[in-house]
Amino acid sequence: MEILKSPDELKNFLELARGTIGFVPTMGALHEGHVSLFRKAKKDSDICIASIYVNPTQFDDPQDLNRYPNAIQNDQELMRANGVDSAFFPTYHQLYPDDYTYQVAERIFSKELCGKTRQGHFTGVLTVLMKLFLMIRPDKVFLGEKDYQQLELVKGMVNAFHMGIEIVGCPTIRESDGLAMSSRNKNLTPSQRQEAPKFFELLSKRGDDSQISEELVKCGFEVDYVVSRKDRRYGAVTLGSNGNKVRLIDNVVLR
Ligand code: AMP
Repeated sequence: MEILKSPDELKNFLELARGTIGFVPTMGALHEGHVSLFRKAKKDSDICIASIYVNPTQFDDPQDLNRYPNAIQNDQELMRANGVDSAFFPTYHQLYPDDYTYQVAERIFSKELCGKTRQGHFTGVLTVLMKLFLMIRPDKVFLGEKDYQQLELVKGMVNAFHMGIEIVGCPTIRESDGLAMSSRNKNLTPSQRQEAPKFFELLSKRGDDSQISEELVKCGFEVDYVVSRKDRRYGAVTLGSNGNKVRLIDNVVLR
């Protein structure tokens, strides 16, 4: 696996690369959810490129950014063992020579669900992905259904800007008790970790959104939203308080 630490190193790698390119953007602290994307990318394309970059412009809360887990040694091993040909680790100054003066924004869906409380979150996500897509020029990009709103918005962006990239949505990988795998799970205390699977369990239950929301509150979750939209129910909750808050998001298909 080649480690690329600058856009110039990426450019040199791409000049020699032959065949289709599959790209997996991540923020590191990798787990089996990310691994499933690497494997799928390698299976569906000739070359698999993955990036690790904790993108500050998508965090509305500096504390959340500071607490974002980091496990670079383990990440490199997981990437190497699961089909990643090249790992790209850009820096803020390399990605944002404009210091975030230029932005890619969506006006409607990005203001709903997670966008309602996380001001500017999806503008940060879309902007960094636009930059990475233009630098890497992948044929296919592999994203998890766990972040379904993000997946929909990225598909919309690629379509809106005629980018000619196929966006491949990949199923959510869960722990055996149903909790969706997430880098943020590493910040859960042991007792929060025991409570967390109740989120997926209740989100999957029959009933209307407000009823599910009330049950989540009874179980100790602070509820950001539970919203059904088309054939899917989306939810976001937090566990813990003040300096020890962990936000969980998930979504399920309604039957
Ligand atoms: P992140 O590192 O959290 O920004 O996620 C990078 C990519 O991995 C995104 O496309 C996520 O949707 C995807 N991902 C994160 N968790 C999971 C999971 N449990 N199952 C499948 N994909 C996931």
